[in-house]
Amino acid sequence: MKAFELRQKYIDFFVSKGHKEIKSAPVIPENDPTCLFTTAGMHPLVPYLSGESHPAGKRLVDCQKCIRTGDIDEVGDPVHLTFFEMLGNWSLGDYFKAEAIEYSFEFLTSPEWLSIPIDKLAVTVFKGDADAPFDQEAYDIWHQLGIPEERIAKCGKKDNWWGPAGLTGPCGPDTEMFYWTGKGDAPEVFDPENKLWVEIWNDVFMQYNKKADGAYEALSQKNVDTGMGLERVAAVLQGKASCYDTELFQPLFGKLDEIRGIDVPAKRVDSERIIADHIRAAVFISADGIAPGNVDQAYVLRRLIRRIIREANKIGIDKPFVTELAQVIIDGYQDPYSELAANANRIKEEFELEEKQFAETLVKGTREFEKLIAKVPAHVQKKVISGKNAFFLYETYGFPLELTEDMARENGFEVDREGFDKAYQKHQEMSRKGAEQKFKGGLADASEQTADLHTATHLLQQALRQILGEHVQQRGSNITAERLRFDFSHDDKVSREDLDKAETIVNDIIKQDLPIVCREMTVDDARKEGAIGLFEDRYGNKVKVYSIGDFSKEICGGPHAPNTGRLGRFKIKKEESSSRGVRRIKAVLIK
Ligand code: ATP
Ligand code: MG
Repeated sequence: MKAFELRQKYIDFFVSKGHKEIKSAPVIPENDPTCLFTTAGMHPLVPYLSGESHPAGKRLVDCQKCIRTGDIDEVGDPVHLTFFEMLGNWSLGDYFKAEAIEYSFEFLTSPEWLSIPIDKLAVTVFKGDADAPFDQEAYDIWHQLGIPEERIAKCGKKDNWWGPAGLTGPCGPDTEMFYWTGKGDAPEVFDPENKLWVEIWNDVFMQYNKKADGAYEALSQKNVDTGMGLERVAAVLQGKASCYDTELFQPLFGKLDEIRGIDVPAKRVDSERIIADHIRAAVFISADGIAPGNVDQAYVLRRLIRRIIREANKIGIDKPFVTELAQVIIDGYQDPYSELAANANRIKEEFELEEKQFAETLVKGTREFEKLIAKVPAHVQKKVISGKNAFFLYETYGFPLELTEDMARENGFEVDREGFDKAYQKHQEMSRKGAEQKFKGGLADASEQTADLHTATHLLQQALRQILGEHVQQRGSNITAERLRFDFSHDDKVSREDLDKAETIVNDIIKQDLPIVCREMTVDDARKEGAIGLFEDRYGNKVKVYSIGDFSKEICGGPHAPNTGRLGRFKIKKEESSSRGVRRIKAVLIK
C-alpha cells in the first residue's frame, strides 16, 4: 500500500467512526515558545486536551506534519526521519480505552482496512508503579481481541507513559503497537528490545492529572491521543526495511542521479539518504514561513540546507542543485499540502540564496583555515589545529569536523579531536540551559501576562499595518510571560519615528479600554468581515475571531485580555531583521 493511500484510509476509517477530519497545523507552533517545531499530532491540540472545547467536536482525526530535530547531525536510521507525517485520532472527553484499542485493532487487522495478520503484531502496556497501577484494562482488551499473552509486554514509565507536558497537568499510560519486520514467523514471545519489532502506533490514555505536590488524581475529562507514523507504517506494510525504500523517496533519488549524471546505483549511501531526509524537512519548514537565518527555526533550516550541500559535495555534486530537489518535494506533496505550491517561488529563491551564501562561507572559512595553519612555523614537528580553533571553524563557518580534518591532513596537520569535543559539549550545555530558560513561561502558562501580551500583539500588528501598509503580515509570534516577539513581512528597517508612532497608537487604544470580543464563525464569514490572520480552514469550518473594538479583527486561538485597559504601557524594546523580508519586534507591557 502506497503512503498516500494509507493516509486516506486512516482518515476514512476514523470518519466512518464519527470523527471529523481536521487539517494539519503548521510545523511552526503558534503561540508556543517552549518548542521550535511541532513534534507530534497532540502538540497543536494541547489546549483542547486540557479542556477547551474544539470547534470540530469531540472526535477528531488528522495527519499532522511533524519535525523532530534530534538527529540532524547524526546519520538517520531507517525509521527516524527529520520530517514525517503523524496520523492521529482523538477523543476529547468522548470514548476511552476500550473503543480506542478496538479501533486500532480493527484498522490494523480488518481485511477491509490494513489486513495485517494478528501474528505479526505485538503490544506493550503500562506495568504500574508507585504513582499509578498496572493498566489491567488495556491488557484485558488486547487479550480479548486475540493478542496472545506472550505478545503483550508490560513496560514502565520510560516506554509506556505520556506527560505531563509541563511540571503538572494531564498525563497517563499508553499502549504501543509493534510490527514484526523480520523474515519468517515472528517469535512467539514478544521482546520490545528486539529491533525487528518496529513500533508503528501509540495510543495514549490521558486519565490522570499530576498535581503540584506530585500526586496523581483522576482527570474529569479523559482523552485519547494516538500517533501512527505514515512513512514508517507504509514501509513495513510494503515489506521494506527502511522508509527510504518507499515510493516517497524514489523521485528524490531519481533527481539526484540525474543531477550527478549517473545510472541508478545498486545501493544508496548515507549521503543520499541524508540529503533526501533533510530536503523534505527544509521545504516544509520554509513553506510555513521560515527563511534561513541565525536564530531558532531559521537556524535549523540553515543547518539543514548546509548539510545537504556538504553531503552533496561528498558524492561529487559541485554545482547548484538545491532548488531542483526542492521542486521534487513541492511537486510530490502539493496535493495534500497546498502551502508548498503557494510558496514555491519564495522557497526556491531563499534556498538558492542560501546555497550561494554558503558557497561564499566555504571560501571564507577556507581562507580562515589557511591563516590558522600559516601561524604555525614550518619547523614544528607535530602540527596541530587546536580544538578551540576547529570549533571556531565549525561555529562560525559551518565547517564540520571531518572537513577540517580532511583539510588538516592535506596540509600535514592533525586536529585535536578531544579539544573539539570539549568545546562542543560546552556549547551544547549552554544551548541546553537556553532551552530550559525557554521552557519557563511556556505552554503551561496561560497567565494574565501572557494573555495581555497576546492582545498587545494584535494591537501592534494593526498599528504597523496602518503606518507601514497592508503588506505587513504576521510571520511568527512568540510570547513569554515577560515579553512579546512579533515577526512580520516588511523589507526595510522600521525607523525609530515609525516605531514611536506604533507605540503611540497602541497606547492610545489601551487608554480607550476597548473590550475584546471573541466570536466563532466560518472562514468565509471571517474573510467577509475583513479579519486578518491565517485563513486556513484548519478546524473544521469554524474559526475564532477576536475583535478589539473597531480597531482590530484577527483570527486567533487566544487567550486574550477581556479589555485593553488592563494592559499597562506598551513599549517597543527592539527592532531587528529576523530573516530576509521579515522584521522582528520585541516589546513589553509595563504595569
Ligand atoms: P520511537 O521510540 O520509535 O522513536 P516514539 O516513541 O518517539 O518512537 P511517538 O512519539 O510515540 O514515537 O510517535 C508516534 C509514532 O510516530 C511512532 O509510533 C512512529 O510510528 C512515528 N514516529 C515517531 N518518530 C518518528 C520519526 N523520527 N520518523 C518517522 N516516524 C516517527
Ligand atoms: Mg512511543
